[in-house]
Amino acid sequence: MAEDHVDVLIVGAGPAGLMLATWLAKCGVKARIVDKRGTKIFNGQADGLQCRTLEILDSFGIGHRAWRESNHMLEICLWNPDSNGVIHRSSRLPDTIPGISRFQQVVLHQGRIERFFLDAINEFSNGGISVERGVLPESLEIDQSCVEDPDAYPITVNLRHLSEEDATPKQSSTMSNGSSAQDGLFRSNLMADDTADLLKTSELNQKANTTETIKAKYMVGADGAHSWVRKEIGLKLEGESTDYIWGVLDIVPITDFPDIRSRCAVHSANSGSIMVIPRENKLVRLYIQLTTTSKIQGQDSRTDRSWITPKVILESAQRILSPYKLDYRKLDWWTAYQIGQRVGSSFGVHDRVFLAGDAVHTHSPKAGQGMNVSMQDAYNLGWKLSSVIKGHSNRSILKTYEFERKAIAHALIEFDHKFSRLFSGRPAKDIMDEEGISMDEFRDAFQKGNLFASGIAVDYGRSLIVTKPATENGAGEATAATTSTPVTGIQDLAPGLKVGQRIPSVKVLNQSDARPWHLQERLPSNGTWRLLVIPGDVSQPAQKPRLEKLCSQLSSPESFLKRFTPNTARYDSVIEVITIHGAPRQSVDVFDFPEVLRPFHEVDGWDYEKIFVDDQSYHEGHGEFYKTFNIRRDEGCLVILRPDQYISYVGKLDDYESADRFFSEFMLPQNNLTLPKV
Ligand code: FAD
Repeated sequence: MAEDHVDVLIVGAGPAGLMLATWLAKCGVKARIVDKRGTKIFNGQADGLQCRTLEILDSFGIGHRAWRESNHMLEICLWNPDSNGVIHRSSRLPDTIPGISRFQQVVLHQGRIERFFLDAINEFSNGGISVERGVLPESLEIDQSCVEDPDAYPITVNLRHLSEEDATPKQSSTMSNGSSAQDGLFRSNLMADDTADLLKTSELNQKANTTETIKAKYMVGADGAHSWVRKEIGLKLEGESTDYIWGVLDIVPITDFPDIRSRCAVHSANSGSIMVIPRENKLVRLYIQLTTTSKIQGQDSRTDRSWITPKVILESAQRILSPYKLDYRKLDWWTAYQIGQRVGSSFGVHDRVFLAGDAVHTHSPKAGQGMNVSMQDAYNLGWKLSSVIKGHSNRSILKTYEFERKAIAHALIEFDHKFSRLFSGRPAKDIMDEEGISMDEFRDAFQKGNLFASGIAVDYGRSLIVTKPATENGAGEATAATTSTPVTGIQDLAPGLKVGQRIPSVKVLNQSDARPWHLQERLPSNGTWRLLVIPGDVSQPAQKPRLEKLCSQLSSPESFLKRFTPNTARYDSVIEVITIHGAPRQSVDVFDFPEVLRPFHEVDGWDYEKIFVDDQSYHEGHGEFYKTFNIRRDEGCLVILRPDQYISYVGKLDDYESADRFFSEFMLPQNNLTLPKV
């Protein structure tokens, strides 16, 4: 039997698996990604990209494709019944809270997003990684005796190659108007898991029945809600499956409803609620709670779905939107969806096999979170795995994956639970109607929920890579090894740059050529840590010596910059130093700054891309970096950013020692240097 050795085996090529493969490709890790399906998806399924997800896609250089092709959702209109029970528009709100990101929520179907990832994976890996379709894992063994050995391959997986026929999902659309459209039922959680069937069919097909053994250092189950990997490692999703069933219809609507091109949440008096999502190419997605729940009475889990057709979904929508008219000629996709709010008991085993995305949390689709949170799981995990595999970090950072993402999954379920109740409930007739939902309460929850839904509010708890004071532990502390006296920075030096959160972006100018950049554009996802040197106004006599002192320590052969970067690698490949100063741009020159801030490369010469200034640009205004983040120009600070743009540390400008201790906690010396005592 054929045998292959890989660093990471990814099972599942949905949004989570593809995000992970993108990271690994970018960082040069040897990975394989397999999916039991014969094709990517072409339309339908998840559609909303939240602003944090767009920031992440942009950090891989694919954000612009999503931004350009998608429909931009700028407004949400809330509709509810008036005193006569007739729906009317009660509020118009911005769909994304203004100012939280340089992006706003957009909508584009999952198939296109998967396409962007596939192209990026191909480009980053020079064709070395591509999704292997029609491939199913059929056995998994973990050799527990060597899980702590960083060089070992403790995972053995047998893969079975399916025939094209076995790997092609069966379509089962029942069209109301003669047109043929793809349905999403083959991936719906209303369907029984078909993995066993696929394996059986494949067994019969001798031609396709080739198998292969993979030895892997790590494995990630990104294989969706039915996750085979999760079952193999003996983990479960915990939580309750509610009885709400949602119909989803992607149509080009013909309607006199005036807000059809805005996102709308419509509560009708007695016919349920609908979420309207305007999409690309004149499409509109309708999410409808199908209130006809009699078919699920007495059943444990899966519902008989034969009664759910596009016609049933459309008729529900027509009742909710009445007296407005709604019909369509073009149906692009439809599905039916049962809300199950569940989280994995654990996110992996032995810090060797991990779960990400729907494999470890499921919830309702209406807040547009599924695809986003799934990708963000993988975004959290990818750089950590790469760093360990490449020998830059020890395995302790892997523990922070579950610690950080499990808290997010629980917050998501809590949010979804609250939002589901408010969205699906009947509107209150008046203030005495205690069973009904208050529309004011709905609007308030909606606005608050918007920040959570954007992904911007993620705030990771204290761990060895998030140096919050012990009082801000949040959901608990990652049990990874910590120093006897853990590094704690001084958050007050930059109150607007919150440790644990992603760094917000404003414009800064390149000192050398005056070009304005969004700060986040200078922080691409390539596996590199960043040390932001924020020296304040270096034209003032007090600040310059402090900067020089720091730079002389950074330039020493024993500095953490040198110790943790292999001699053979570029100076900025493990930790990149970026300076953002606060002196007037024209009062200083790039060569006024110490060399470590603008390093010299044998071939490329001086690096002019590392020193930035907070000043007025010629054409794009003033980013106000210092003012926005409340950093004093006569004080400055040092900030450490993780490879995923989250803030690890804020401390004094000249406190080199704390930064050194921070990195020394988990990074591995590369060049056989004797470690200094810090
Ligand atoms: P998935 O997208 O489910 O991808 C898992 C992948 O693993 C699939 O490609 C599958 O073929 C593969 N796989 C599974 N088992 C195996 C195996 N044993 N071996 C190899 N490969 C395997 N979210 C929204 O935000 N809005 C929506 O409108 C919306 N609609 C949805 C409709 C349906 C029918 C479904 C199922 C989900 C919907 N979601 C929606 C949720 C959203 O699609 C998911 O949250 C998101 O796709 C999760 O990404 P993932 O990569 O974790 O899993």
